[in-house]
Amino acid sequence: MTRHAVVVGGGIGGLATAVALRRIGWRATVLERAAEVREIGAGMSQAPNAMRALEALGVGEQARSAGVPTYSAGNLRLPDGRHLQQARPGDPTPLVAFHRADLHRMLLQALPTTWVRTNAEVTGVRQAEQQVTVTWNGGQATADLLIGADGIRSTVRRLLWPDAPAPRFLDRTAWLGITDADGLPGSITMGAGGYFLIHPISRGRAYWAYVTTAGRPAIRYEKEKIEVARRVATWHDPIPSLIAATPDEAVIHIDICDLDPLPAYVCGRVALLGDAAHAMSPDRGQGAGQSLEDAVVLAAALAGESTIEAALRRYDTERRPRTQATARGARADGRRTTSLALHRALVTMIRLTPAALWRKGIADDGNPTWRWRPPHLPSPTTPH
Ligand SMILES: Cc1cc2nc3c(=O)[nH]c(=O)nc-3n(C[C@H](O)[C@H](O)[C@H](O)COP(=O)(O)OP(=O)(O)OC[C@H]3O[C@@H](n4cnc5c(N)ncnc54)[C@H](O)[C@@H]3O)c2cc1C
Repeated sequence: MTRHAVVVGGGIGGLATAVALRRIGWRATVLERAAEVREIGAGMSQAPNAMRALEALGVGEQARSAGVPTYSAGNLRLPDGRHLQQARPGDPTPLVAFHRADLHRMLLQALPTTWVRTNAEVTGVRQAEQQVTVTWNGGQATADLLIGADGIRSTVRRLLWPDAPAPRFLDRTAWLGITDADGLPGSITMGAGGYFLIHPISRGRAYWAYVTTAGRPAIRYEKEKIEVARRVATWHDPIPSLIAATPDEAVIHIDICDLDPLPAYVCGRVALLGDAAHAMSPDRGQGAGQSLEDAVVLAAALAGESTIEAALRRYDTERRPRTQATARGARADGRRTTSLALHRALVTMIRLTPAALWRKGIADDGNPTWRWRPPHLPSPTTPH
């Protein structure tokens, strides 16, 4: 009999999970509270580990053609334009940058349309010994397994992990945008107390992000574009012109939060995945990548273990240490890169690092997190 899972949340993590389950012959129902399954209008990069996870999910080729290879920290600059490190032609471009919507769409297209249900906000979860029942506005379903992939403010986590702390505001905030800008190389400009990131994405566009400190969460401005432009007005080209070219309504302002480590990602027949389990600061560009890894590991465990309980134990054992270490590292990186006190020391350290050594550290296998290899997933089968 075909096993059935309910996946709460139609973000990158939830869709990747449904794709992974499909590959091992399970059936999945994705419940998404929004009226439409879609991503925000911003960019993101995926590192080699995440690209391998996409490969394991069967969408590697689509991902490579939708994304644009880019440097990780090949070009590091100061606000006055001086290079601390400068990429040369032929240097490694280990990251692949995307419009989020492209990555999201390719996962959605790998699923039967009947598997995804919108306008379905999950409000209740009830567990019996071998089954789990989920309730949403207007419906109820019983399944063998429930995956909470409902993001940093997860309802599933709140219901089943009532003692888990709320997301932590990391004293930082970010403005993001996408605009037409052909041929710009990836770069990071390090100011005192904030950095500006640029990645080229498909169709001659660039994704930019400015991350800086904030005294409290939820500070908002009447005109976000004017505010971010003001903060980097004296920074080198093309930073001011990129912001100026971004439509006002396309500038997104979000606060940076993460989750303190949970003691378990599994409770009975319910597993947390993606940001619901381990939301992390964006400074290592790993949040969505880790959710892709989660999806592959979960499916491999379900295919390989004799019981769902054993598979969930394996998922928890394999994923918790890795994702929590990544989140810890991202939190520390974020503090360092936006710290006023550490700015001068950081700049000196980067400037003094010999270019050859720097290049080694930012090549494909230079970063330990990127070396992850996916477990074997059986050949795809189509459930009845
Ligand atoms: C500024 C910034 C930059 C980033 N850059 C990168 C990057 O370059 N690379 C990278 O890998 N990661 C990056 N990340 C992290 C990445 O965005 C997240 O880790 C990833 O999007 C999480 O995906 P998810 O599916 O787990 O959660 P989400 O994308 O939050 O999806 C959760 C879904 O669940 C739905 N939902 C919520 N509650 C319910 C409910 N009760 N019932 C039904 N549906 C519900 C929501 O509507 C949503 O669609 C960045 C994050 C930030 C903030």
